[in-house]
Amino acid sequence: MSPKIAIIGTGPSGMAAAQALATNGHSVTMYEKADRPGGILMYGIPHMKLNKNNILKKADVLRNLGVEFILNTKIDKQNIASKISKEFDCVLVATGAEHARDISIDGRQLNNIFFAMEYLKDNTKHLLDGTPLDIDAKGKNVVIIGGGDTSNDCVATAISQGALSVKQLEIHSKNNERKKNVYDFDEDEVKLYEKTAVKFIDKDGCVSKIVTDNVGFTRDENGSKLEFKNQYGEIDADLIFVAIGFLGPIEEGLNAFDIEIDKTKHNRDTKIFTTDKENIFICGDARRGQSLIKYAIGEGKMAAIAIEEYLSK
Ligand SMILES: Cc1cc2nc3c(=O)[nH]c(=O)nc-3n(C[C@H](O)[C@H](O)[C@H](O)COP(=O)(O)OP(=O)(O)OC[C@H]3O[C@@H](n4cnc5c(N)ncnc54)[C@H](O)[C@@H]3O)c2cc1C
Repeated sequence: MSPKIAIIGTGPSGMAAAQALATNGHSVTMYEKADRPGGILMYGIPHMKLNKNNILKKADVLRNLGVEFILNTKIDKQNIASKISKEFDCVLVATGAEHARDISIDGRQLNNIFFAMEYLKDNTKHLLDGTPLDIDAKGKNVVIIGGGDTSNDCVATAISQGALSVKQLEIHSKNNERKKNVYDFDEDEVKLYEKTAVKFIDKDGCVSKIVTDNVGFTRDENGSKLEFKNQYGEIDADLIFVAIGFLGPIEEGLNAFDIEIDKTKHNRDTKIFTTDKENIFICGDARRGQSLIKYAIGEGKMAAIAIEEYLSK
């Protein structure tokens, strides 16, 4: 009988591993907490940038290779994880790094402040299922905290929904070398450079304005430093998205399998896919932190090789 492998998470790393393993005749079962496969490719990157039909077609290619998808199934309890690790010869944890970094300032508890991923997922579900939007930017003054790719995805989505105004608070200076966004909005109109939020202002329990401060941001060998300038300003904001990066994997997935990530071993410079449990492997953003699709795919393929080496022992 061919060895049985369970993969937790159906993002690009999990899918790449599934393809390699199923092609080599292994029996692969993928567990996914969302209702569709694809990870961030499905529910993070907007449909206007990455057509979701292509992701669903990719899942069909895997099904044709014999891969089984078990959707709407979150593996976050030790008893279920332990059943899976006994039932399967190997488990590959490919759960991504979706633990979003938060901003802890006055007023964070107010209504209409969301993490970027909540917004992007809601919009994609609306487009695919026709469900009403829970978070609608139409007619709103939208501010996105953070100036990177995830923030750009929120800007483009808010513009497509008919926002009244859209602004990004970007801690870097305009001269900082960053690649231009792939959408056709004018960054100079949208981005407020060298600014961050220091307070959200309350109106009847909802956010209505952001108090901003000018900042200087430097990055050196010891990390990064934010210098506040005490030059306050205010901007109208009735819908806010927090897009200031990710801290790593959501712990409950790792805790369920009782594995710990040693960041000195599991980082982008190493090719270590094993964990402290001999039949449990890890790859993609869950292993190396938030990254890029091409690295996730590469990690999935390399993890498949590591699994096959283990199985052949
Ligand atoms: C908004 C956004 C836009 C991006 N845009 C780009 C881009 O344009 N180009 C690029 O190269 N990279 C981009 N990236 C980065 C890229 O998408 C990721 O590096 C890549 O998707 C990581 O793949 P992964 O398979 O490791 O994890 P993910 O894609 O995060 O997939 C992990 C999967 O595991 C599932 N999961 C998590 N926990 C559990 C659990 N306990 N039980 C069951 N299932 C679970 C999740 O639901 C998810 O489906 C973007 C990232 C974000 C956040």
